[in-house]
Amino acid sequence: MVCNESNMSAFQFFHYYLDTLFLARNLKELKAILHDDLVGFGTGAGEVSFDIKTSLRLYQQDLSNAPNPIQYQIKKSKIQCLVEEKAYLFLGVLSLKTEILNQSLTFNHLRLSITATCIHNKWSVRHVHASFPTSEHCADEAYPIKELEERNSWLERSIAAKTCELEYALADIKKLAETDKLTGLFNRHNTDKLINSYINQAQLTNQPFSILMIDADHFKRVNDKYGHIAGDKLLVQLSQRVQQQLRKNDTIGRWGGEEFLIICPDIGGAQANKMAERICTQIATSVFEVNAQQTVSIGVTQYQPGDTLDSLISRADNALYLAKKQGRNQAVRADHIAD
Ligand code: GH3
Ligand code: MG
Ligand code: MG
Repeated sequence: MVCNESNMSAFQFFHYYLDTLFLARNLKELKAILHDDLVGFGTGAGEVSFDIKTSLRLYQQDLSNAPNPIQYQIKKSKIQCLVEEKAYLFLGVLSLKTEILNQSLTFNHLRLSITATCIHNKWSVRHVHASFPTSEHCADEAYPIKELEERNSWLERSIAAKTCELEYALADIKKLAETDKLTGLFNRHNTDKLINSYINQAQLTNQPFSILMIDADHFKRVNDKYGHIAGDKLLVQLSQRVQQQLRKNDTIGRWGGEEFLIICPDIGGAQANKMAERICTQIATSVFEVNAQQTVSIGVTQYQPGDTLDSLISRADNALYLAKKQGRNQAVRADHIAD
């Protein structure tokens, strides 16, 4: 529809204005039908305009806040002639529906009053007043309380969903930071952390605990013969077989390349050594897909008062070294090694 046709009726003009404003959301076309002296009120706080410049800014603001087409429905309206064939008043109650930030929004009972003139066959809007009805929430008009409450609750739901996503992401990151990627076991950082917490607890309660340092024998040969990927596979299987020998409260971590560390709460060196021997036997008699036979050596030690992480680990390491030196495929208990 061309807006300045001489034969355009007031009815057609007001509809053209509503279509351009709500459906086309086209500021350029709107500008063409706004009078240079346009004044008016919008629905929001501070939306008062005494000149065309402010009016245009308010239209622009409205467009950027709700850029999508706004489907409108005129619930009730009346067009009144103010000056014969020259000035007209549109008074209407509208429902609006649009989408803002992917959320469907409905605004009911928009009250709209528009004054337009037709001078020398040119239609222009001189005054606009938009408002929402007074509700029990506020003493003045111009506040779509219900709609804002709905929008608020949508935002709260959206934030809750985002928070939930972030919590999952954080849990994933935490898991990644604590877990060894290949075997899914605790990584060294987390294993050390756990040992430290056992040390702290033992200092307070005298509760015994022991550790087993396990190292796969001649693992370099496995890689050399079958390749690194096959070696990885064997490491995973090895860790699984070792786990079968553990009690419920024991924890196994991957401490280094082909080294694992087991923390055994509530038992001293003698019992831990028995467990280590069982593990050696179990591994030595297991058949693996890669390198059908594999053995491990184990250094065992129990917590002693005054131990630090380093002193405890280095005792287990020394015992492991001895197990290697004595021919591998065996467990050695550090507490039996003379200093
Ligand atoms: P020893 O019986 O004395 O422990 O001999 P070893 O060959 O097992 O010991 P060494 O320290 O000489 O070599 C360790 C080997 O373990 C070499 C390295 O390539 C391999 N290794 C370490 N980490 C990984 C891993 O993540 N995947 C694979 N496939 N191999 C690994
Ligand atoms: Mg090693
Ligand atoms: Mg080794």
